Amino acid sequence: MKSLVWFRNDLRIDDNPALQAACAESEEVHAIYIYSNNQMELHDEASCKIEFMIANIKSLEKSLDELNIPLTIIDSDGMNHDPSIILKLINERTITNVYWNNQFGIDEESRDEELQELLTINDINFSTYDSQVLFPAGTFKTGEGKPYSVFTPFKKRWVENFNLDLLDIEFKYMPKIKTTVSSNIDSFDFFFNKDHSVDMNLWPVGEEEALKNLKKYLDKKIFNYAKDRNDPIIEGTSRLSPYLALGIISPKRCILEALKKNNFELDSGEKGVTKWIDEIVWREFYKNIMSSFPRVSKGKPFQEYTNKIKWRFNEEEYEAWKNGKTGFPLIDAAMRQLKSEGWMHNRLRMVVAMFFTKNMLHDWRLGEAFFMQNLIDGDFSSNNGGWQWSSSTGTDAAPYFRIFNPLTQSKNFDSDGLFIKKYVDELKDVEKKDIHDPSNEIRSMCDYPTQILDLKKSRLRAIDAFNEAKN
Ligand SMILES: Cc1cc2nc3c(=O)[nH]c(=O)nc-3n(C[C@H](O)[C@H](O)[C@H](O)COP(=O)(O)OP(=O)(O)OC[C@H]3O[C@@H](n4cnc5c(N)ncnc54)[C@H](O)[C@@H]3O)c2cc1C
Repeated sequence: MKSLVWFRNDLRIDDNPALQAACAESEEVHAIYIYSNNQMELHDEASCKIEFMIANIKSLEKSLDELNIPLTIIDSDGMNHDPSIILKLINERTITNVYWNNQFGIDEESRDEELQELLTINDINFSTYDSQVLFPAGTFKTGEGKPYSVFTPFKKRWVENFNLDLLDIEFKYMPKIKTTVSSNIDSFDFFFNKDHSVDMNLWPVGEEEALKNLKKYLDKKIFNYAKDRNDPIIEGTSRLSPYLALGIISPKRCILEALKKNNFELDSGEKGVTKWIDEIVWREFYKNIMSSFPRVSKGKPFQEYTNKIKWRFNEEEYEAWKNGKTGFPLIDAAMRQLKSEGWMHNRLRMVVAMFFTKNMLHDWRLGEAFFMQNLIDGDFSSNNGGWQWSSSTGTDAAPYFRIFNPLTQSKNFDSDGLFIKKYVDELKDVEKKDIHDPSNEIRSMCDYPTQILDLKKSRLRAIDAFNEAKN
C-alpha cells in the first residue's frame, strides 16, 4: 500500500496518530506540507511564527528522511486550493490512502470536508485523527445536551472520562521502503515577509528540543508552578506554547510526562503538576468553544449583548500601547517583551488586554489581531479565548466591572520591579519605591512618557459602556 500523510499543525513524529497509522498500514509512505503565504497573511500569522515554523518543517523533513519518507512542499494560493493539490499529487504518485490529523477552525474544517468529498468521489481511502486534544471537540455535553461554555464543569467531565489508555502513545517507527521520490525542501522557496525583531535563539528548533525543554521543566520548575506561575520575572512557566501551537510537541506527551511526576494522579498530589495540566485542559476547552460556537471564529463575541458596546478608537493611544510607551511601566515592559521574544507571560497578557479593552475601551478584535501578528505561539482559539476573557465579551469571562488596575498588578506581581527594569531600559536605574509609577520629575529625567490616560476615569467609562450595552 502506498500512503500519503498530510502534515499541517502537527510538525512532529512523536505521538502523531496520522503518521503512525500510515506507517503501520503501508509499505511506502509519502508526506506533504502545503505552504501558503497568502493564507498565513489572511490568518494574521506572525512573521516570527512563520520563521519558526519553516525551521521546524526542515527539522521534520530530516526525521522523516530517516524513515525513508520524502516530504514534498507545495506552494498554494490559499486553503481552497488545497484539496485539488492533494488530489493531483495522489494521481501523480498512485497513492491509495491519505492520512491527516484534524485542525481546528472554520476554514480548515470546510477545506477538509471538501477534500473528503473529493477523495470519496475518486475512490481514495482516507483516515483522520485528533492530535491536538484528548477528547474530540464536542464530546462533552451539559445535562441539557448543550456544549459546555464554562471551564469548571467542562474540566470535571474531562477528569471523569480520563483514563490512562488515552495516553498510550508510544510507537516504534520502522523505516519504510525507499521511494523514487525525494524531498524538494532544499529547493523550495519559503517566501515570507520577515519583519520581526524577536531573538530566535530563545526558541530552539525541532521536536527533540521541545521534548528536552519539557523534560527540563518537569524535572524541577513544575513543582513550584502553582506558586510561581504569576510572577513574570521568574521563569516559572514552561514556555512550551510555541511548540504546542505548531504541534511540535503533543498535549498527550505533555500530560503523560507530567503525570509520571505525580504518581499518575490527575487531580491530587503535587499542586504544581495538577495546576499545569489544568492549563493544558484550558487549551482544549477553548478549542471546544471554537468548534461548538462557530461565531467566535467569525469575529463575533461570545456574549451577544457586547455587540452593542460602543468601542472607541484613539490612534495615539493605540500606537503607544503597541510600542510599549503608555507610561504604565508594567504594560510597557510586557509589550516590549512581546516584541523582543514573540511571547508574553500569561498574567501580563491578561493585564495588557484588559488595559486595551477596558481602560482604552478599544475593540478587543484589534488587540486580538495585533497579538496574532506578533506571537510566536499564536493560536487562534487560545488567543481569541484570552482576549474575549479579558474584555468580558467571552465565555466564562472576567465580569465586566472587574478591571485590573495595572499599578496594583505591577506591585503584586513584579514587586521589586525587576521585570520592568529588564524590559524598560529607561527605568533600569529607578528605585524600587518609584518603579511602578514614577513621578513626573523621574519620568522627564529618564525620558519615559507620562501616562496616556487616567485610570479612574477610564475605568468608569468602561463600566458605563458595558452598562449601556446591557440595558
Ligand atoms: C489575551 C491572551 C492571549 C493569549 N494568546 C495565546 C495564544 O495565541 N497562544 C497560546 O498558546 N496561548 C495564548 N494565551 C494563553 C497563555 O497566555 C499562554 O498559553 C501561556 O502564556 C504560554 O506560556 P507557557 O507555555 O509558559 O504556559 P504554561 O503556563 O507552561 O502552560 C502550559 C501550556 O498550557 C496552555 N495554556 C496555558 N495557559 C493557557 C490559557 N490561559 N489558555 C489556553 N491555554 C493555556 C499553553 O499551551 C501552554 O503552553 C493567551 C492568553 C491571553 C490572556
